[in-house]
Amino acid sequence: MRVLIILSLIFSFACNQTQQQVVSKEKGEAYSSVKVASSISLDSIPKIMKSEAEWKAELTEEEFYILRQKGTERSFTGDLLSNKEEGTYVCAGCDLPLFESGTKFKSGTGWPSFWEPVGSANVLEDADTSHGMRRVEVLCGRCDGHLGHVFDDGPKPTGLRYCINSVSLDFVKKGAEDKE
Ligand code: FE
Repeated sequence: MRVLIILSLIFSFACNQTQQQVVSKEKGEAYSSVKVASSISLDSIPKIMKSEAEWKAELTEEEFYILRQKGTERSFTGDLLSNKEEGTYVCAGCDLPLFESGTKFKSGTGWPSFWEPVGSANVLEDADTSHGMRRVEVLCGRCDGHLGHVFDDGPKPTGLRYCINSVSLDFVKKGAEDKE
């Protein structure tokens, strides 16, 4: 009887170990493929916290749907998709600089695409398992507004593709920030 108890304890321990390994392997496979370039800034940015009612009052209906409710604009409809001017793409919710025009590229997806954010603290990442997919969501580093997703099929030098809703962005043309 004692042997049986010992055997069952060993078996149960071994099963738990295997389960834990499977779970951590799944998590690793899901999200480890996307890495942010190490050369960019790691400074943290003070948060902007607003109530849902405050955001609703400030944003357009479409901005509220995408930035605050994690919506997605229809592909090939965004104003900034074909923008080729030099400047900075900032958060439509809080004006935090997010992407420089020099990192924008034509992905063919129908959404503005970039291969690197302005800084690693400016664009945050979160695991997203909605719609039966495993994706990495990207959010504004200051207001936590939903921007889009990042994938690992982008061009060199990072190999990343930040697929961003045009509605989540405003564009500041180079030189325009000095003119008040
Ligand atoms: Fe923001």
